[in-house]
Order: sequence, then C-alpha cells, then structure tokens
Amino acid sequence: MRDKLLGAAAARPLLVVAALTVVLLLIVLSGATRNLPLDLLIRSYSAPEEGPQNCSLASPIEPAKDKLLGGLLSPAFDEPSCLSRYQSAQFWKSSNHTPSPYLLQKLRSYEALHQRCGPHTDLYNKSIDQLRSNRSTGPLECNYVVWLQSGGLGNRLMSLISTFLYAILNNRVLLLSVPDDLHDMFCEPFPGTSWALPSDFPIKKFETRDFYGGSPQSYGNLLKNKMLSNGMDATHASLPAYLYLHLTHDADDSDKMFYCEDAQPLFQSFPWLFLRSNQYFAPSLFLVSQYNDELQKLFPEKEAVFHHLGRYLLHPTNSVWGYVTRYYEAYLANAKERVGIQVRNFPNAPVKFELMLDQVINCTLKEKILPDIKVEVPANLTTSGVKPKAVLVTSLQTGYFEKLRNMYYEHSSTTGDAIGVYQPSHEELQRTENQNHNTKALAEMYLLSFSDVLVTTAFSTFGYVAQGLGGLRPWMVLRPDNQNSPCRRALSMEPCFHFAPAYDCKAGRNIDKGTVVPHVKHCEDLDFRWGLKLFD
Ligand code: GDP
Repeated sequence: MRDKLLGAAAARPLLVVAALTVVLLLIVLSGATRNLPLDLLIRSYSAPEEGPQNCSLASPIEPAKDKLLGGLLSPAFDEPSCLSRYQSAQFWKSSNHTPSPYLLQKLRSYEALHQRCGPHTDLYNKSIDQLRSNRSTGPLECNYVVWLQSGGLGNRLMSLISTFLYAILNNRVLLLSVPDDLHDMFCEPFPGTSWALPSDFPIKKFETRDFYGGSPQSYGNLLKNKMLSNGMDATHASLPAYLYLHLTHDADDSDKMFYCEDAQPLFQSFPWLFLRSNQYFAPSLFLVSQYNDELQKLFPEKEAVFHHLGRYLLHPTNSVWGYVTRYYEAYLANAKERVGIQVRNFPNAPVKFELMLDQVINCTLKEKILPDIKVEVPANLTTSGVKPKAVLVTSLQTGYFEKLRNMYYEHSSTTGDAIGVYQPSHEELQRTENQNHNTKALAEMYLLSFSDVLVTTAFSTFGYVAQGLGGLRPWMVLRPDNQNSPCRRALSMEPCFHFAPAYDCKAGRNIDKGTVVPHVKHCEDLDFRWGLKLFD
C-alpha cells in the first residue's frame, strides 16, 4: 500500500489538531464519555507530529509517547494512511532501547537510496535493462536484493528483517516479491516509494524450481559446478545476470558458503540477488569480519537488532490495525497488567495437549506470572474495585485458553486478583496461503507485543516477532521431554537463528560458532547445537 498523500501532509497538522480538540470538547461536554477513563480517550487520539501536541489534555495523565520511536521512523508519512506507524508507540511498554544515532542516519540515507532506485525510477530501469540482457556486468549504481517468501508469517518476518539488514550493510535496495496472501497487510516502510516488486518486473514467477534449492541459478549450485568461486571477478559474460541465494533451513553446505567472508565481494558484483530464507540469519552476519565495524556502530546494543528493525519496517495496514485496536480496547486496555501467553504446538513435533497445558500452567505459577488458585475456599464476597489482570492467550487451538479461563472462573486467586483470560482466534490449522488467516496472525503478534510480561513457546518464530516488537525477554515454555523446568527466561529479546551454519570458512571445517565472539551464542530455547542468537 502506498502512502499517497505525502504532499498534503505538511499543511494539515494544525487543522487536524483544531478539529480534534473541538470534537473532543464536544464529546466531553455532552456527557457521553462519563464512563470512559480519560486516558483511554486521550490514547485513542494521536497528536500530529508538529503543532501543539503536548496540549494540556495529554500531559497530566500519561506523557505523550514518542511516536517516532527515538527517530527510528521518518516523519514524512501521511498518518491516516497507516495508523499503526505512529500509534504503536502508545501501546508498547516504554522501551529503554534507544536506536544509535548512526542507525538513524543509516536509515535516512537508505530511504534516500530507495527513493533514487525504487521501482520505475531511471536508475531502476537501467538495472532492469541489465537483468533483461542476461549478462553479468558488475555492480551498477542501483543494486538490489529481492526477498522471496518461505514458511509461516513468523518465519517470513525473520528472513525479511535479516534481508533488510543485509541490504543496508551492502547499500542494496530491498524489494519484496509480495505473495498474494500478504497483500494489504503491511504499509510501505520507506517514504515516497515502494518496496513491492512491480507487476511488470521481468521475472513473473518465483515459486518455481528456478528459485529453490539446487536450481541452476543458485549460488550453491554454481559453486558446486565450479562455474563460480568465492573471490572471483564476476564481469565475465558467461556468468548469469543474477544470483539466487537459497538460505532456508534446508540450505546445503554450498548454499551456506553465503556466510563466508570471501563470498561477500563476489555478491557485490551482481546487481540482482534473489534471496529466499525462513531463518533469522542476522546473527551470522555478525560473524562476517567485513561487517564488524558497521554493525558495531549500527547496533551498539546487540539484542536490539530485531527490535529496532522490526519496529522500523513492520507496520500493519489500517485493516489489520483495526483488529489490533478493537481487541485491545475491548479486552486489554482496562487491565492493571497484561500477560501474553503464546502456545504453539508444532505439527512435526507434537506435544500432548495435557503435557503442554501443564508446562504452561507450571511455568506461569512457578515464575509468579499468574497467581495460584484457592481450591476449596469460596469466592470473595466483595469486589475490591481493583482492575483485573488480563491474560491474552494466542494459539491455533482453544483448549489452553479454556482451561486457564475456567481455572480463574471456578476458583478465586490466592492474591485476590480478578484474572480475565481472552483469546482472539483459534484457527485450528496453519493456513498461510489464506490472507485473512495471516491477518489474524499478525494482529495477534502485535497484541502479544503489548504485554507487560510475555510467555512464548520455545522455537516459535511467531513468539519471536512478538518479543522483538515489544522489546520483551519472554519466558519460554520448553518441551516437556527431558526438561527439569517448564520454562526458561530469555536472556536476550533477539530471535534465534535455528539452522545456523557451523562451517568455518577459513578453517575449512565445522566449529562451535557459539564461542567465536562474545555477543553471538547459542539460543536458550534450543537444545540444538547449531542455533545462534545475539546477546549483550
Ligand atoms: P512458527 O511455526 O511457530 O515458527 O511460526 P510461523 O508464524 O512461522 O508459522 C505458524 C503459523 O501458524 C502462523 O503464521 C499462523 O498462520 C499460524 N498460527 C500459529 N499460532 C497461531 C496463533 O496463536 N494465532 C494465530 N492467529 N495463528 C497462529
């Protein structure tokens, strides 16, 4: 979706403030709001960037949140076209993770690059001519990395953020081949341009063998067949016009040579890279020495990579945002505390319902996230007027929610707290090809990210998105087998790169990549030897 009203935006703020103030006053005077807490009213109104936004209405109750997220977001967008962009800040817990000035500068210069090279600009057209010519020419003024989808929404967002990081490290323009089931789900993140591959792009189909593992055009395959070698100069006319990078969990050893230092200059010779992954491969970029200095300046705080880039890139469109805000206001806004619980049962490694339920309940009770219940004592006879705790359960199944809800319906809690338990949807089965299904998934990731305390399921990228956006270190519920504890607290809010390569390109053998640098270690939620994650 494009922000079409950029030009008019600058003239509007004062008028909008005046109109909204009058409307608010009329509503207040009419008495219609007597039962609504004032902070709710204020929260539903988002002040424009310029003008008297610190008006006396907002300040005494809750200081206006920094809607540009410490300068992460460009102010150049028209707010109504994508409400979530500037409104999300009001719902997240205050973040103490400040983006570095260098990251802000990099994002602004990336935006300028994307405007110069975006679809249908002169420079884009030149790069398209090169692609059509079917020959490799070496780098052009505008070079691209095209993201191709793989896996469920969480997996896709893992690879999208990693690909964007790769793009900014290499001054490449990120374009997306947007699958039908993701249409109208995310707003454009870069002002005055588009990140979507246009419909007249010369390659029409990416869901073919040419863009999967082992395809003739894949980097891994070209390496295997000795048509390419790391460190070579790719201006030779017999070389392909583009490279396909196959970086999904099933990438083979040759594909994974992508993570070698001496491969990087070779990629720079290709104006067009097509990249498919379902992994959060950012941690492995921190092991490539040529990116060290830049990454250190961009992310002095290592555990905030997804947090900043996710908040920068992932803005639900107004239709998705409607799901988020309607649900939040109806069930969560009035709570004194919000607990998010995400329960994922993986079809390929299922856990019996009762066992998983025990893990979830044992975790939340043991870690004092939720209060225990009084089994035989009758309910309190008086109501205290204290606000309830709200528990947001997300899951494909409804059983975990029902059990938790009944637990606090049928018994009083030991703390006297009223516990409201809510679940927005139970889709039963993963149906990633369905846009409406993905809309609910994205809305629920966002709702979870508004939690004060978050409980996720180990290994789930769905949970990773919520924790990263929210800036939360979750309690991760572990599989019941072979674990002494039902859950473990994450030490970093970063996602895990599940299938990280163990190959050390210099040594020419596999090594323990979790011991190379202090900030890249094995993930807490995996017993896999090879999972890698960023820590501070
Ligand atoms: P992962 O498989 O847990 O790593 O997460 P993904 O997001 O990649 O894939 C799981 C998909 O199943 C999601 O994208 C949704 O389509 C669906 N799904 C799983 N859990 C939930 C849930 O709690 N709520 C909703 N609405 N969908 C879910």
